[in-house]
Amino acid sequence: MNLLSARIQNLAESETLAMSQRSSELKASGIDVINLSVGEPDFFTPKHIKEAAKEAIDSNFSFYPPVSGYLTLRKAICRKLLETNQLQYTPEQIICSNGAKQALCETLLCLINTGDEVIIPAPYWVSYIEMVKLAEGKEVIIKTDINNNFKITAEQLRAAITSKTKVFMLCSPSNPSGSIYTREELSALAEVLREFPDVFVISDEIYEYISYVGKVSSLATHNFLKDRIAVINGVSKGYAMTGWRIGWVATPLVLARAIAKLQGQFTSAASSIAQKAAEAAYCGDNSCVEQMRKSFENRRNLIVTLARQIPGFDVLTPDGAFYIFPVCSYYFGKTTPEGKVIENSSDLAMYLLDNAHVASVGGDAFGVGECIRFSYATSEELITKAFRRIDGALRQLK
Ligand code: PMP
Ligand code: GLU
Repeated sequence: MNLLSARIQNLAESETLAMSQRSSELKASGIDVINLSVGEPDFFTPKHIKEAAKEAIDSNFSFYPPVSGYLTLRKAICRKLLETNQLQYTPEQIICSNGAKQALCETLLCLINTGDEVIIPAPYWVSYIEMVKLAEGKEVIIKTDINNNFKITAEQLRAAITSKTKVFMLCSPSNPSGSIYTREELSALAEVLREFPDVFVISDEIYEYISYVGKVSSLATHNFLKDRIAVINGVSKGYAMTGWRIGWVATPLVLARAIAKLQGQFTSAASSIAQKAAEAAYCGDNSCVEQMRKSFENRRNLIVTLARQIPGFDVLTPDGAFYIFPVCSYYFGKTTPEGKVIENSSDLAMYLLDNAHVASVGGDAFGVGECIRFSYATSEELITKAFRRIDGALRQLK
């Protein structure tokens, strides 16, 4: 008997979470591993947000919340969308989920029929491809490289659209490249989309607040896309709340209702306490976000300097998020002191984990095999130590 469904057998494990897990296991066995694999802020959740969660417990927010989230939270999200993004949404158009991950997956499940094509620029965040697979869609990848700052052009988008295209997914600021599309670049993509009114857009804006080039623009500000776009965001990255699991989608009513129906059968609402914490995040003083952003910027400057000193690494200065994604293919074909040949970026990531005790993620997981991802959501001291080790280990490759 084949116990497991084809669906789950075909699904790949999340490489980011797997690398982080491996690094935690090594750490537990007493090895001093520096974890630059998983992307999550190392800051503690700001105090006023934690206080709001405690208050919610004491005020007995212990019952099932409405499936799409408390109205007060959805109103706070609408206010944020209006004030920060000049986007007008009503609370009925907002669905809160267990992290942006669930919001993304539900959005795809509500849009995709078997065989529908989903256009995804590479490098992409690991989970996009697997989510499309779950929805029985077909991913259509647009390759980018460091020479065009890992961004697609309007011409590339036009060339990728077919009569089967259902969705175009964009992540800006990008995980893993850190690239941010400018207003002009987004306008050029929007103009292509204007020609194809049946293509729906998913705009993943989870790193919105971690930008080093000023305010991040959204494709949703193009009015003619407003009735065919889902804006995905949440509190995980900007407010250092990865473990609270609150993300959301803002989208036309017909899709919002469908997502709520799916979520109602699947997980129901996200945790009541975490929702109240997220509400405090959106209603409170945002200076905590700016403080963390500034620290990420200092770390970005440091890690780019250090990575550029590594022979053979080609490093783009990221505009946002907290990853660098250097080209590392210079090391492919080289041999480790143990006699093993480094065939690809996953081999290189494993070599660095075993020999430098630094966890990273090979670019294969993000659809660009010649690169490797390092998260710099950790202290400057650890970043410096990690790159000293990486340099030492890479020098042993012959
Ligand atoms: N989109 C991208 C690009 C991400 O990097 C992440 C982080 N895991 C998510 C979505 C999901 O965020 P969350 O932790 O809120 O589920
Ligand atoms: N987005 C983070 C990363 O890419 C968190 C891990 C995950 O959910 O994949 O590392």
